[in-house]
Amino acid sequence: MTDTDWARRAAELRPETRLFIDGDYTDAQDGATLDTVSPRDGTRLAQVAAGNKADVDRAVRAARRAFEDGRWRDLTPKERKRILLRLAELVMEHHEQLALLETLDVGKPIGESLRVDVPSAANCLRWYAEAIDKRYDEIAPTGRDALALVTREPLGVIGAVVPWNYPLIITAWKIAPALAAGNSVVLKPAEQSSLSALLLARLGSEAGLPDGVLNVVTGRGEQAGAALGRHPEVDKIAFTGSTAVGKLFLRYAAESNAKAVAIEAGGKSPQLVLADVGDLEACASAVAWGIFYNAGQTCNAGSRLVVDEAVKDDLLAAVLKAGETFTVGDPLDPATVMGPLVDRAQFDTVQSYLDLARQEGASTAFGGGRAHPDSGGFYLQPTVLDQVTNDMRVAREEIFGPVLSVITFRGEEEGLRIANDSPYGLAASVWTRELTTAHRVSRSLRAGTVWVNTFDASDVITPFGGFKDSGHGRDKSLHALDGYSALKTTWINLG
Ligand code: NAD
Repeated sequence: MTDTDWARRAAELRPETRLFIDGDYTDAQDGATLDTVSPRDGTRLAQVAAGNKADVDRAVRAARRAFEDGRWRDLTPKERKRILLRLAELVMEHHEQLALLETLDVGKPIGESLRVDVPSAANCLRWYAEAIDKRYDEIAPTGRDALALVTREPLGVIGAVVPWNYPLIITAWKIAPALAAGNSVVLKPAEQSSLSALLLARLGSEAGLPDGVLNVVTGRGEQAGAALGRHPEVDKIAFTGSTAVGKLFLRYAAESNAKAVAIEAGGKSPQLVLADVGDLEACASAVAWGIFYNAGQTCNAGSRLVVDEAVKDDLLAAVLKAGETFTVGDPLDPATVMGPLVDRAQFDTVQSYLDLARQEGASTAFGGGRAHPDSGGFYLQPTVLDQVTNDMRVAREEIFGPVLSVITFRGEEEGLRIANDSPYGLAASVWTRELTTAHRVSRSLRAGTVWVNTFDASDVITPFGGFKDSGHGRDKSLHALDGYSALKTTWINLG
């Protein structure tokens, strides 16, 4: 389809904007709404129900009922698998509609929403569905006079609180393992990105999820989010977002029922390029994609290029060349590589960091300005800051925009020290031709994921999460399933 076809379809779209509770759409109890603004032109896209404490309470009660009467967890594993597989199928049957909602809501280029976001979400649902009837529990080595079963039980009601940068994908990372493990879920999408979640909820019902098993309460963080965090009937919060809000959820838990809280937060990931880097072109391309993909609004974005002085000039020249291929434009245009930032607040934050970079003494090697100022949208040029030192705020704080900070070093030891000198520890890469160096350095990098001679390679099969201020939760892989269940011991006397 051309950009005009997509624009026509966008104009015809009538997205669902109400909460989804106990198998039905419903307005917020007090009728409140919040505007969701299209980042492509700054116009209002929809008015979405702004749930508050009473709505969260309705949703949690529905989820609790569904959990207690066993309408989902007591289905046979084969049956739960069938329903989640059907949901994955329905996601793909609504592929274009979901992609369009995602693109309009958060500004992702339509090509990416189609190629990456929707299929990845479907794949995640499918993968956890397939896992349901393939995991076995344990028998402990008691000896002959007893039989001790160690089984996994679902936790109960999961509050899933997600950000706006990959709405469908991160939602799938939470709800797929939570549902696969037999829990009920109350999902709270970010203010900026409610629309795909509201469609997904209906698809869940269509697939056969019993009422109350998957609920969606849209609304503001300080209201709906906080109410979920404080709710005494929520057993666990699975949170992805900023470190500051993650810490709030720990406080909500401490002040309510000491519920479990898993935090997946931000990053300031180093791309560590050693002097013996092999293919400089491949490295430059990975560096550019690592920071400019999704307009830099990626938790594991490679926002620090930590490069040995010996190869810095050549690599930087190649990165700038790669940067030129990131054409900034209307996300509905299939030719667009980089869309706008999600909203005005994010745009202003990133611009304030560009001002700060100049005050701190960094120089702008590429970009640095607004793009398409007449569109009304929130477009920024891909930007490279040179002459950055690791003590500057632009090297330490998460900018969450298409801004790369270039920091140089001399020798592996100094490079490692700089790469690890960060409050965050979500991801890192190392570029070297030597296998032994790759092993040595990747062991020493304090990050939940380390890539060697690549960046952002990922699949649902491997865990994802971080250390330090990046949080402690792990999404994806079979390990994530463990996070949505608790161990139970049943000791049977055979004496
Ligand atoms: P955010 O922390 O502002 O919001 C995340 C969620 O928390 C939203 O649903 C929001 O409504 C809710 N929230 C906000 N304030 C709240 C409050 N006072 N009480 C309760 N809930 C509240 O984050 P964001 O701006 O939506 O997303 C960007 C952040 O997410 C970045 O820091 C990014 O690095 C991080 N992120 C991390 C991962 C990961 O897997 N580690 C993935 C994607 C994004």
